[in-house]
Amino acid sequence: MTLKNGQQYLAIPGPSVMPEAVLRAMHRSAPNIYEGELVEVTESLIPDLRLVAGTEHNVAIYIANGHGAWEAALANVLNEGDTVLVAATGRFGHGWAEMARDLGIKTKVVDFGRKSPFDPDRLEKVLREDTDHKIKAVLATHVDTSSGVLNDIPALRAAMNAAGHPALLMADCIASLGCDRFEMDAWGVDVMVAASQKGLMTPPGLGFVYFSDKAAEARKAMARVSRYWDWEPRANPDYLYQYFGGTAPTHHLYGLRVALDMLKEEGMENVWRRHDVLARAIWAACDTWGQDGPLTINVADPSHRSRAVTSLRIGLPYGPKLRTWTEQNAGVTLGIGLGMFEKDDPKGEGFFRIGHMGHVNPQMVMGALGAIDMAFKAEGIPHGAGALEAAAQVIAAG
Ligand SMILES: *Cc1c(COP(=O)(O)O)cnc(C)c1O
Repeated sequence: MTLKNGQQYLAIPGPSVMPEAVLRAMHRSAPNIYEGELVEVTESLIPDLRLVAGTEHNVAIYIANGHGAWEAALANVLNEGDTVLVAATGRFGHGWAEMARDLGIKTKVVDFGRKSPFDPDRLEKVLREDTDHKIKAVLATHVDTSSGVLNDIPALRAAMNAAGHPALLMADCIASLGCDRFEMDAWGVDVMVAASQKGLMTPPGLGFVYFSDKAAEARKAMARVSRYWDWEPRANPDYLYQYFGGTAPTHHLYGLRVALDMLKEEGMENVWRRHDVLARAIWAACDTWGQDGPLTINVADPSHRSRAVTSLRIGLPYGPKLRTWTEQNAGVTLGIGLGMFEKDDPKGEGFFRIGHMGHVNPQMVMGALGAIDMAFKAEGIPHGAGALEAAAQVIAAG
Protein backbone atom coordinates (compact mmCIF):
# COMPACT_ATOMS: atom_id res chain seq x y z
CA MET A 1 0.00 0.00 0.00
CA THR A 2 1.23 3.49 -0.75
CA LEU A 3 -0.21 6.92 -0.23
CA LYS A 4 2.00 8.54 -2.85
CA ASN A 5 -0.52 8.95 -5.67
CA GLY A 6 -1.13 12.63 -6.29
CA GLN A 7 1.20 15.33 -7.61
CA GLN A 8 4.79 14.04 -7.55
CA TYR A 9 7.48 16.50 -6.53
CA LEU A 10 11.02 16.21 -7.88
CA ALA A 11 12.89 18.15 -5.18
CA ILE A 12 16.37 17.58 -6.63
CA PRO A 13 18.79 20.30 -7.73
CA GLY A 14 17.92 20.08 -11.39
CA PRO A 15 16.07 19.34 -13.45
CA SER A 16 13.76 21.50 -11.40
CA VAL A 17 9.97 21.67 -11.38
CA MET A 18 8.60 22.88 -14.70
CA PRO A 19 5.68 25.31 -14.46
CA GLU A 20 2.48 24.16 -16.15
CA ALA A 21 2.60 27.32 -18.27
CA VAL A 22 6.05 26.34 -19.59
CA LEU A 23 4.83 22.85 -20.44
CA ARG A 24 1.70 24.20 -22.13
CA ALA A 25 3.78 26.57 -24.24
CA MET A 26 5.82 23.62 -25.47
CA HIS A 27 2.78 21.52 -26.34
CA ARG A 28 2.35 22.54 -29.97
CA SER A 29 3.10 21.32 -33.45
CA ALA A 30 6.47 22.02 -35.01
CA PRO A 31 6.91 25.65 -36.09
CA ASN A 32 8.53 27.01 -39.23
CA ILE A 33 12.25 27.33 -38.48
CA TYR A 34 13.00 29.75 -41.34
CA GLU A 35 10.69 32.67 -40.76
CA GLY A 36 7.79 33.93 -38.72
CA GLU A 37 6.96 33.49 -35.07
CA LEU A 38 9.92 31.37 -34.00
CA VAL A 39 12.38 33.97 -35.26
CA GLU A 40 10.62 36.64 -33.21
CA VAL A 41 10.42 34.43 -30.15
CA THR A 42 14.14 33.66 -30.34
CA GLU A 43 15.11 37.30 -30.82
CA SER A 44 12.91 38.26 -27.87
CA LEU A 45 14.78 35.86 -25.57
CA ILE A 46 18.11 37.64 -25.83
CA PRO A 47 17.30 40.86 -23.90
CA ASP A 48 15.54 38.84 -21.22
CA LEU A 49 18.42 36.39 -20.88
CA ARG A 50 20.61 39.46 -20.38
CA LEU A 51 18.20 40.84 -17.81
CA VAL A 52 18.19 37.76 -15.57
CA ALA A 53 22.00 37.72 -15.57
CA GLY A 54 22.43 41.45 -15.00
CA THR A 55 24.37 42.10 -18.17
CA GLU A 56 24.24 44.24 -21.28
CA HIS A 57 26.81 42.09 -23.01
CA ASN A 58 26.74 39.00 -25.19
CA VAL A 59 24.93 35.70 -24.86
CA ALA A 60 25.23 32.55 -26.96
CA ILE A 61 22.74 29.69 -26.76
CA TYR A 62 23.75 26.05 -27.26
CA ILE A 63 21.63 22.94 -27.60
CA ALA A 64 23.43 21.38 -24.67
CA ASN A 65 23.28 20.67 -20.97
CA GLY A 66 25.55 22.39 -18.48
CA HIS A 67 28.51 20.26 -19.48
CA GLY A 68 28.13 21.54 -23.03
CA ALA A 69 28.09 25.13 -21.80
CA TRP A 70 31.24 24.42 -19.79
CA GLU A 71 33.04 23.15 -22.88
CA ALA A 72 31.71 25.96 -25.07
CA ALA A 73 32.98 28.59 -22.64
CA LEU A 74 36.46 27.06 -22.48
CA ALA A 75 36.68 26.41 -26.22
CA ASN A 76 36.17 30.08 -27.09
CA VAL A 77 38.92 31.66 -25.01
CA LEU A 78 41.51 29.01 -24.18
CA ASN A 79 44.07 27.35 -26.39
CA GLU A 80 45.67 23.99 -25.78
CA GLY A 81 48.60 24.60 -23.45
CA ASP A 82 47.06 27.64 -21.74
CA THR A 83 46.76 27.64 -17.94
CA VAL A 84 43.65 28.26 -15.84
CA LEU A 85 43.28 28.70 -12.11
CA VAL A 86 40.34 26.74 -10.68
CA ALA A 87 38.77 27.51 -7.30
CA ALA A 88 37.12 24.23 -6.34
CA THR A 89 34.50 24.01 -3.61
CA GLY A 90 32.87 20.72 -4.55
CA ARG A 91 32.33 18.23 -7.34
CA PHE A 92 31.34 20.78 -9.98
CA GLY A 93 34.48 22.86 -9.64
CA HIS A 94 36.54 19.74 -10.22
CA GLY A 95 34.26 18.74 -13.10
CA TRP A 96 34.90 21.97 -14.99
CA ALA A 97 38.65 21.54 -14.39
CA GLU A 98 38.53 17.98 -15.76
CA MET A 99 36.81 19.25 -18.87
CA ALA A 100 39.55 21.86 -19.31
CA ARG A 101 42.27 19.24 -18.92
CA ASP A 102 40.67 17.08 -21.62
CA LEU A 103 40.93 20.09 -23.95
CA GLY A 104 44.67 20.21 -23.28
CA ILE A 105 44.42 23.19 -20.91
CA LYS A 106 46.70 23.15 -17.86
CA THR A 107 44.79 23.48 -14.61
CA LYS A 108 46.04 24.87 -11.33
CA VAL A 109 43.36 23.69 -8.92
CA VAL A 110 43.10 25.24 -5.48
CA ASP A 111 40.86 22.91 -3.50
CA PHE A 112 38.87 24.51 -0.71
CA GLY A 113 37.26 21.25 0.35
CA ARG A 114 33.59 20.31 0.25
CA LYS A 115 32.01 22.50 2.89
CA SER A 116 33.65 25.91 2.66
CA PRO A 117 33.63 28.72 0.11
CA PHE A 118 36.81 29.76 -1.66
CA ASP A 119 39.17 32.09 0.14
CA PRO A 120 39.80 35.11 -2.13
CA ASP A 121 43.02 35.98 -0.27
CA ARG A 122 44.50 32.59 -1.11
CA LEU A 123 43.52 33.01 -4.75
CA GLU A 124 44.98 36.53 -4.78
CA LYS A 125 48.28 35.11 -3.53
CA VAL A 126 48.37 32.56 -6.38
CA LEU A 127 47.63 35.32 -8.89
CA ARG A 128 50.34 37.60 -7.48
CA GLU A 129 52.86 34.78 -7.81
CA ASP A 130 51.93 34.42 -11.49
CA THR A 131 54.12 37.38 -12.45
CA ASP A 132 54.36 36.54 -16.16
CA HIS A 133 50.56 36.10 -16.38
CA LYS A 134 50.52 32.50 -17.51
CA ILE A 135 47.05 32.11 -16.01
CA LYS A 136 44.59 33.07 -18.73
CA ALA A 137 41.38 32.55 -16.79
CA VAL A 138 40.07 31.94 -13.27
CA LEU A 139 37.26 29.38 -13.11
CA ALA A 140 34.85 29.48 -10.18
CA THR A 141 31.47 27.96 -9.41
CA HIS A 142 29.07 30.54 -8.00
CA VAL A 143 27.07 27.76 -6.35
CA ASP A 144 28.57 24.29 -6.18
CA THR A 145 25.54 22.06 -6.40
CA SER A 146 27.23 19.08 -4.74
CA SER A 147 28.31 20.84 -1.55
CA GLY A 148 25.68 23.60 -1.52
CA VAL A 149 28.46 26.20 -1.14
CA LEU A 150 27.78 29.76 -2.34
CA ASN A 151 30.94 31.58 -3.41
CA ASP A 152 31.55 35.32 -3.26
CA ILE A 153 32.21 36.19 -6.90
CA PRO A 154 32.64 39.97 -6.31
CA ALA A 155 35.33 39.15 -3.72
CA LEU A 156 37.14 37.07 -6.34
CA ARG A 157 36.93 39.98 -8.80
CA ALA A 158 38.36 42.26 -6.12
CA ALA A 159 41.20 39.78 -5.48
CA MET A 160 42.02 39.66 -9.20
CA ASN A 161 42.00 43.45 -9.37
CA ALA A 162 44.16 43.75 -6.24
CA ALA A 163 46.68 41.37 -7.80
CA GLY A 164 46.55 43.44 -11.00
CA HIS A 165 45.99 40.21 -12.90
CA PRO A 166 44.48 40.35 -16.42
CA ALA A 167 42.98 36.81 -16.47
CA LEU A 168 39.36 36.37 -17.47
CA LEU A 169 36.93 35.69 -14.63
CA MET A 170 34.71 32.75 -15.60
CA ALA A 171 31.76 31.79 -13.40
CA ASP A 172 29.57 28.70 -13.41
CA CYS A 173 26.07 29.93 -12.55
CA ILE A 174 24.26 26.82 -13.74
CA ALA A 175 22.72 26.23 -10.31
CA SER A 176 22.47 29.82 -9.15
CA LEU A 177 21.02 31.81 -12.05
CA GLY A 178 17.48 32.82 -11.18
CA CYS A 179 17.92 31.68 -7.55
CA ASP A 180 20.86 33.41 -5.87
CA ARG A 181 21.65 37.04 -6.63
CA PHE A 182 23.99 37.32 -9.59
CA GLU A 183 24.94 40.52 -11.43
CA MET A 184 27.38 39.80 -14.22
CA ASP A 185 28.38 43.34 -15.21
CA ALA A 186 28.39 44.87 -11.73
CA TRP A 187 30.48 41.95 -10.49
CA GLY A 188 32.99 42.14 -13.34
CA VAL A 189 32.44 38.62 -14.66
CA ASP A 190 33.86 37.97 -18.15
CA VAL A 191 32.31 34.61 -18.98
CA MET A 192 29.30 33.02 -17.32
CA VAL A 193 27.72 29.65 -18.03
CA ALA A 194 24.12 28.67 -17.29
CA ALA A 195 21.61 26.05 -18.34
CA SER A 196 17.86 25.84 -18.78
CA GLN A 197 16.89 23.19 -16.26
CA LYS A 198 17.55 24.81 -12.92
CA GLY A 199 16.49 28.31 -11.96
CA LEU A 200 15.26 28.88 -15.50
CA MET A 201 12.51 26.26 -15.05
CA THR A 202 12.75 24.82 -18.58
CA PRO A 203 13.62 21.21 -19.49
CA PRO A 204 17.30 20.26 -19.82
CA GLY A 205 18.68 20.98 -23.28
CA LEU A 206 19.70 24.62 -23.48
CA GLY A 207 23.12 25.85 -22.38
CA PHE A 208 24.01 29.54 -22.21
CA VAL A 209 27.39 31.21 -22.41
CA TYR A 210 27.47 34.89 -21.57
CA PHE A 211 30.59 36.87 -22.37
CA SER A 212 31.95 40.36 -21.85
CA ASP A 213 33.60 42.47 -24.53
CA LYS A 214 36.98 41.59 -23.01
CA ALA A 215 36.16 37.89 -23.48
CA ALA A 216 35.00 38.63 -27.03
CA GLU A 217 38.46 40.12 -27.69
CA ALA A 218 40.10 37.02 -26.25
CA ARG A 219 38.00 34.91 -28.63
CA LYS A 220 39.18 37.01 -31.58
CA ALA A 221 42.79 36.37 -30.59
CA MET A 222 42.32 32.58 -30.63
CA ALA A 223 44.22 30.58 -33.24
CA ARG A 224 40.98 28.75 -34.03
CA VAL A 225 37.69 27.80 -32.38
CA SER A 226 35.71 24.72 -33.33
CA ARG A 227 32.90 25.72 -35.60
CA TYR A 228 30.15 24.28 -33.44
CA TRP A 229 31.33 25.86 -30.19
CA ASP A 230 32.19 29.25 -31.71
CA TRP A 231 30.10 31.82 -29.87
CA GLU A 232 30.51 34.59 -32.45
CA PRO A 233 27.83 33.60 -34.99
CA ARG A 234 25.54 32.53 -32.15
CA ALA A 235 25.76 35.90 -30.46
CA ASN A 236 25.63 37.91 -33.72
CA PRO A 237 23.43 35.89 -36.08
CA ASP A 238 22.02 36.99 -39.41
CA TYR A 239 19.73 33.94 -39.66
CA LEU A 240 17.92 31.85 -37.09
CA TYR A 241 20.05 28.74 -37.69
CA GLN A 242 23.17 30.67 -36.69
CA TYR A 243 21.91 31.08 -33.13
CA PHE A 244 22.10 27.32 -32.79
CA GLY A 245 24.66 26.17 -35.35
CA GLY A 246 21.80 24.32 -37.06
CA THR A 247 18.16 23.49 -36.34
CA ALA A 248 16.65 25.54 -33.53
CA PRO A 249 15.60 23.79 -30.29
CA THR A 250 12.06 24.76 -31.27
CA HIS A 251 9.98 23.70 -28.27
CA HIS A 252 12.54 24.66 -25.65
CA LEU A 253 12.42 28.19 -27.02
CA TYR A 254 8.68 28.45 -26.47
CA GLY A 255 9.09 27.06 -22.97
CA LEU A 256 11.94 29.41 -22.13
CA ARG A 257 9.93 32.38 -23.43
CA VAL A 258 7.24 31.70 -20.82
CA ALA A 259 9.76 30.98 -18.05
CA LEU A 260 11.49 34.32 -18.69
CA ASP A 261 8.11 36.06 -18.72
CA MET A 262 7.42 34.60 -15.29
CA LEU A 263 10.78 35.79 -13.93
CA LYS A 264 10.27 39.24 -15.41
CA GLU A 265 6.79 39.54 -14.03
CA GLU A 266 7.94 38.58 -10.55
CA GLY A 267 11.04 40.79 -10.79
CA MET A 268 14.55 39.49 -10.06
CA GLU A 269 14.73 41.10 -6.62
CA ASN A 270 11.54 39.26 -5.66
CA VAL A 271 12.75 36.03 -7.22
CA TRP A 272 15.93 36.18 -5.15
CA ARG A 273 13.95 37.11 -2.04
CA ARG A 274 11.55 34.18 -2.50
CA HIS A 275 14.48 31.80 -2.77
CA ASP A 276 16.05 33.36 0.31
CA VAL A 277 12.96 32.97 2.51
CA LEU A 278 12.33 29.41 1.35
CA ALA A 279 15.96 28.43 1.86
CA ARG A 280 15.96 29.87 5.36
CA ALA A 281 12.78 27.92 6.16
CA ILE A 282 14.46 24.69 5.03
CA TRP A 283 17.55 25.46 7.10
CA ALA A 284 15.42 26.22 10.19
CA ALA A 285 13.74 22.83 9.85
CA CYS A 286 17.07 21.06 9.31
CA ASP A 287 18.66 22.78 12.31
CA THR A 288 15.72 21.68 14.45
CA TRP A 289 15.88 18.06 13.30
CA GLY A 290 19.61 18.12 13.91
CA GLN A 291 19.24 19.22 17.52
CA ASP A 292 18.44 15.66 18.54
CA GLY A 293 19.77 13.46 15.77
CA PRO A 294 22.43 12.96 13.09
CA LEU A 295 21.25 15.51 10.50
CA THR A 296 23.62 18.41 9.74
CA ILE A 297 23.66 21.03 7.00
CA ASN A 298 26.89 20.56 5.05
CA VAL A 299 27.79 24.25 5.01
CA ALA A 300 27.81 25.54 8.59
CA ASP A 301 27.66 29.30 7.93
CA PRO A 302 24.32 30.37 6.39
CA SER A 303 25.99 33.27 4.58
CA HIS A 304 28.00 30.72 2.57
CA ARG A 305 24.99 28.61 1.62
CA SER A 306 23.20 28.59 -1.70
CA ARG A 307 19.50 29.49 -1.80
CA ALA A 308 19.01 27.00 -4.64
CA VAL A 309 20.18 23.73 -3.09
CA THR A 310 20.97 22.46 0.38
CA SER A 311 23.38 19.58 0.90
CA LEU A 312 22.82 17.56 4.07
CA ARG A 313 24.67 14.86 5.92
CA ILE A 314 22.67 12.27 7.83
CA GLY A 315 25.03 9.28 7.70
CA LEU A 316 24.44 5.63 6.97
CA PRO A 317 22.12 3.81 6.89
CA TYR A 318 19.80 6.78 7.14
CA GLY A 319 20.49 8.60 3.84
CA PRO A 320 19.12 5.94 1.47
CA LYS A 321 16.32 5.05 3.91
CA LEU A 322 15.12 8.63 4.05
CA ARG A 323 15.19 9.19 0.29
CA THR A 324 13.53 5.90 -0.48
CA TRP A 325 10.78 6.51 2.04
CA THR A 326 9.90 10.01 0.82
CA GLU A 327 9.82 8.86 -2.81
CA GLN A 328 7.85 5.66 -2.29
CA ASN A 329 5.42 6.88 0.32
CA ALA A 330 5.05 10.63 -0.08
CA GLY A 331 5.77 11.30 -3.77
CA VAL A 332 8.78 13.53 -2.99
CA THR A 333 12.09 12.70 -4.68
CA LEU A 334 15.13 14.10 -2.88
CA GLY A 335 18.57 14.50 -4.45
CA ILE A 336 21.35 12.01 -3.86
CA GLY A 337 24.66 13.07 -2.36
CA LEU A 338 27.15 13.92 -5.09
CA GLY A 339 30.91 13.57 -4.68
CA MET A 340 30.56 13.53 -0.88
CA PHE A 341 32.23 10.18 -0.28
CA GLU A 342 33.96 9.61 3.06
CA LYS A 343 36.25 6.88 4.32
CA ASP A 344 33.46 4.79 5.84
CA ASP A 345 30.94 5.82 3.14
CA PRO A 346 32.70 5.42 -0.22
CA LYS A 347 29.61 6.32 -2.25
CA GLY A 348 28.62 9.30 -0.15
CA GLU A 349 25.18 7.81 0.48
CA GLY A 350 25.03 9.38 3.91
CA PHE A 351 24.45 12.69 2.13
CA PHE A 352 21.36 13.92 0.34
CA ARG A 353 20.27 17.20 -1.19
CA ILE A 354 17.10 19.23 -1.31
CA GLY A 355 16.64 21.24 -4.49
CA HIS A 356 14.73 24.47 -3.90
CA MET A 357 15.39 26.21 -7.19
CA GLY A 358 13.06 27.80 -9.66
CA HIS A 359 9.32 27.18 -9.52
CA VAL A 360 8.98 26.64 -5.76
CA ASN A 361 6.72 28.22 -3.19
CA PRO A 362 5.91 27.73 0.51
CA GLN A 363 3.40 24.91 0.09
CA MET A 364 5.92 22.90 -1.95
CA VAL A 365 8.71 23.50 0.53
CA MET A 366 6.47 22.68 3.49
CA GLY A 367 5.30 19.56 1.64
CA ALA A 368 8.87 18.39 1.07
CA LEU A 369 9.79 19.14 4.69
CA GLY A 370 6.66 17.34 5.84
CA ALA A 371 7.65 14.30 3.80
CA ILE A 372 11.12 14.31 5.40
CA ASP A 373 9.55 14.64 8.85
CA MET A 374 7.31 11.65 8.14
CA ALA A 375 10.30 9.63 6.92
CA PHE A 376 12.17 10.34 10.15
CA LYS A 377 9.22 8.94 12.06
CA ALA A 378 8.46 5.99 9.78
CA GLU A 379 12.09 4.87 9.65
CA GLY A 380 12.86 5.55 13.30
CA ILE A 381 15.60 8.06 12.47
CA PRO A 382 16.50 10.17 15.53
CA HIS A 383 15.50 13.83 15.08
CA GLY A 384 14.63 16.94 17.01
CA ALA A 385 10.94 17.90 17.28
CA GLY A 386 9.30 21.05 15.93
CA ALA A 387 11.03 21.36 12.55
CA LEU A 388 7.89 22.17 10.57
CA GLU A 389 6.93 24.76 13.16
CA ALA A 390 10.36 26.37 12.81
CA ALA A 391 10.06 26.46 9.00
CA ALA A 392 6.54 27.86 9.17
CA GLN A 393 7.71 30.66 11.40
CA VAL A 394 10.43 31.69 8.95
CA ILE A 395 7.93 31.80 6.09
CA ALA A 396 5.33 33.62 8.19
CA ALA A 397 7.92 36.27 9.08
CA GLY A 398 8.71 36.54 5.32
C1 LIG B 1 23.91 21.06 -12.91
C2 LIG B 1 25.24 21.70 -12.88
C3 LIG B 1 26.22 21.43 -13.84
C4 LIG B 1 26.06 20.41 -14.91
O1 LIG B 1 24.95 20.61 -15.69
P1 LIG B 1 24.42 19.42 -16.61
O2 LIG B 1 23.22 20.01 -17.25
O3 LIG B 1 24.10 18.28 -15.69
O4 LIG B 1 25.47 19.07 -17.57
C5 LIG B 1 27.41 22.13 -13.75
N1 LIG B 1 27.63 23.02 -12.79
C6 LIG B 1 26.72 23.29 -11.83
C7 LIG B 1 27.03 24.30 -10.78
C8 LIG B 1 25.50 22.63 -11.85
O5 LIG B 1 24.59 22.89 -10.90
